[in-house]
Amino acid sequence: MSSDELRRQGHRMVDWIVDYWDRVETLPVQSRSEPGELRAALPPSAPLHGEPFEDILADLDRLILPGVTHWQSPSFFGYFPANASGPSLLGELLSAGLGVQGMLWATSPACTELETHVLDWLVDAMELPRGFRSDSAGGGVIQDSASSAVLCALLAARERATGLQSNRTGDTRGLVAYSSTEAHSSIEKAIRVAGIGSENLRLVPVDRDFAMRPGELERKVSEDVAAGRSPFFVCATLGTTSSHAMDPLKAIGEVCGAHGLWFHVDGAMAGTAALCAEFRFHFDGLESADSYCFNPHKWMFTNFDCTCFWLRDRRALTEALTIVPDYLANQATASGEVIDYRDWQVPLGRRFRALKLWFVLRHYGLEGLRHHLRQHVELAHELRVWIEADDRFVIVAPTPLNLVCFRHRQGDEFNRALMERLNREGSMFLTSSTLAGRLALRLSIGQTHTERRHVEAAWRRIAETATAMEAGSQASQAT
Ligand code: PLP
Repeated sequence: MSSDELRRQGHRMVDWIVDYWDRVETLPVQSRSEPGELRAALPPSAPLHGEPFEDILADLDRLILPGVTHWQSPSFFGYFPANASGPSLLGELLSAGLGVQGMLWATSPACTELETHVLDWLVDAMELPRGFRSDSAGGGVIQDSASSAVLCALLAARERATGLQSNRTGDTRGLVAYSSTEAHSSIEKAIRVAGIGSENLRLVPVDRDFAMRPGELERKVSEDVAAGRSPFFVCATLGTTSSHAMDPLKAIGEVCGAHGLWFHVDGAMAGTAALCAEFRFHFDGLESADSYCFNPHKWMFTNFDCTCFWLRDRRALTEALTIVPDYLANQATASGEVIDYRDWQVPLGRRFRALKLWFVLRHYGLEGLRHHLRQHVELAHELRVWIEADDRFVIVAPTPLNLVCFRHRQGDEFNRALMERLNREGSMFLTSSTLAGRLALRLSIGQTHTERRHVEAAWRRIAETATAMEAGSQASQAT
C-alpha cells in the first residue's frame, strides 16, 4: 500500500469507525447472525490477487457488521463493559503503526519505560499499596488479560512454595490452591495450565452476599495442612462476575499471612473503582496481597486488551519465568538496570499497550475518569431503586458498584424467556448467571456513551416485556 493510499484509506477507516460509533445505538445490540452465516457468504479460498481497498471496506457493512454484537452500544448491559474510547482507539492505532516488539527494554526502551511509569501513576492515583510501585521491590506490568495475570501469579507462587524447584523438577505434588465458589473460571484454567490440577483447587463457600467466608478458608487450609498437603495460593475477588461480590480482603489476607500463602486479588472490572476515594473501602486489606490485577479493558475506557498487574516482589515472578538465550542477551539486561517485561509474562513478544492507557489517562485526566465512573454507579443505584419499586421483581445481590442483579418472581424459565426476548428484540442486551441456585438477570452499566436515558429505556422495556409475558401466560392458563 503506497503512502498516499494509506493516508486516504486511513482517513476513510477512521471516518467509518466514527460513523459507526455515532450510529451504534440505532443498531440491534445483539447480532442476529445464524451459525455459519458469515462463512457461507465468504469465498472458500483467499484471493489470488490483491483487491481494491474500497471493496474490502464495502464488505465491512455487507458481511461483517451483521455478525457483530455491538459491545460499544450504550444499551449494551451484558457480561461486563468493554468500553473503548477515542483516545484508546488512537493509542491502539499508534501502537500498530510503530509496530514495536517490546519484549526487552533494549528492543524499544520507550515501550518498557512508559508502561512502568503509567503503572506507577495508577498506584498513586488509586492509592494502591506503595509496595506495588516500581521503586520498591514490586512493580507493575500490562498483561493481555486477567486470566494471564492470575496464571503468572500462580507460577510465581508455585515457584516460591517449592523453593524454586517446580520449574526444574516439574514436581507440583501436594500443592493446593483456594478461591471462592464465585471466583472466575480463569482461576481454574490457570490451575490446569500450571499443572496443579483442578482437583487441587478448593472452592470456599460464600456468605449470603456471595463473598468468600474467611473462616471456611481457614478451615479448608487447616484440613489440607493436617492431611500433609501444601496450601500455597489463594485468589480473592473484588467484584465477582456473577454478582460483583467483594471478598473480605483483610480477613483473607490474615489467613494467608498465618499460613504463608500467596495472596492474589482479582479486581477485573471493579478494580477501576479505586480511582474514586469513596469506593476505596472495598480495597481495604489489599496491602497484604502479593499480587493484584484489574482490567482497564472493562471499565476504564481502554479497548481490549489491557490488564494492569502488580506484584509486591517482582523477583518472585522473574525467577519463575526468566530464561536468557544467547540471541536475547544484551548489555542493558546484563547491567541489571532495566526491566525486561518478557520475564513478567508467558509470551516473549509484546505490544506497546501502554500507549493507549497513557492516551486515556491524559485525555480524560483522573477527574474525568472519576466523573464517568460515578455516573455509572449512580445510574446502577437508580435502576436498583426502580426495580425495588416494582413488586414483580426482586433484587438478588448487593449493588456495590455498577452491576445490578435481579429477577422476576416467576421463576427461572420466565426470566430466561424474558432475557431472550429482550435480547432478540435488539433495543438492549443483558445476560444472566446463577446465584444461590437460581437464575439472576445481570445488568452491567459501564459503556462509554451510556446515559440515563439508555438505562431508563432499558428498564421500561424490561417492565413492559414482563407485562406482555405475564398477560400471555395468564391467557394460556385460562385456556
Ligand atoms: N475475573 C473476573 C472477576 C472477571 O469477571 C473476568 C471476566 O469477566 C475475568 C477474571 C477474566 O478476564 P479476562 O478476559 O481479562 O481474562
